[in-house]
Amino acid sequence: MCKVIAIANQKGGVGKTTTCVNLGIGLAREGKRVLLIEADAQGSMAASLGIQEPDELEVTLVTIMEKVINDENVVPNEGIIWHDEGIAFIPANIELAGLETALVNVMSREMILKQYLDTVKAQYDYILIDCMPSLGMITINALVASDYVLIPVEAAYLPVKGLQQLIKTIGRVHRKLNPQLSIMGILFTKVDRRTNFARDIAEQIRQVYGTRVHIFKNCIPLSVRAAETTAEGKSIYLHDPKGVVAKGYVCLTEEVLAHEE
Ligand code: ADP
Ligand code: MG
Repeated sequence: MCKVIAIANQKGGVGKTTTCVNLGIGLAREGKRVLLIEADAQGSMAASLGIQEPDELEVTLVTIMEKVINDENVVPNEGIIWHDEGIAFIPANIELAGLETALVNVMSREMILKQYLDTVKAQYDYILIDCMPSLGMITINALVASDYVLIPVEAAYLPVKGLQQLIKTIGRVHRKLNPQLSIMGILFTKVDRRTNFARDIAEQIRQVYGTRVHIFKNCIPLSVRAAETTAEGKSIYLHDPKGVVAKGYVCLTEEVLAHEE
């Protein structure tokens, strides 16, 4: 059965896109059929998968969501791009910001992405959704369409306040719109191993949430090698296969594969 995972945190720059791409490709390297959905108007997932000018793309997630809204048929594989490293993805661009505003007047506006994913789920083992840095209607669509949320947290800041808001939103979506939804875990990213921030923050999170919110055992270290991949159009596994970040994402992939509901 397909698992749909939203990668969400309303804070920007915490490693959502990097995690989506490298977890997605990590799962594909383990033989899983993977679709990545970019639910962010910045187009940075498209860019990091080799699309030079996302804003010039003709067909994006917006095209597909508009068809769902207008009850038009989405042609099989419409908007899907194949990447050399074994994943499929649907990019987004600046037009998604316009769609988010237009959704206000749409019937069942929270369910549009879910309606689409329900039609393609059978073809994939994992669908990962790269969310935008906000808790607006596109992110709500992602949460409604998902079984799990993976929350990347940059370990250099005290994130507890922002996390509370995110976890509250996830709880509301769970109660009102998607009883299936649960938090898969918090992933610490950009961890500077010379400091104890990650450990301190993990402790704080445990104090607030106890065992209700899982924290992934494995962290993603801070490394300039990770930042470089964004411009290369390929994963960390090809860019720096022996590095600490590749190792981090291999371990995360194993944890996600081992996750049972
Ligand atoms: P988000 O999608 O949450 O905004 P990104 O994945 O785009 O975050 O990451 C933000 C920036 O941090 C990017 O420039 C990215 O290349 C860089 N980055 C991501 N992960 C790491 C890491 N482990 N070490 C160093 N830089 C990273
Ligand atoms: Mg991003």
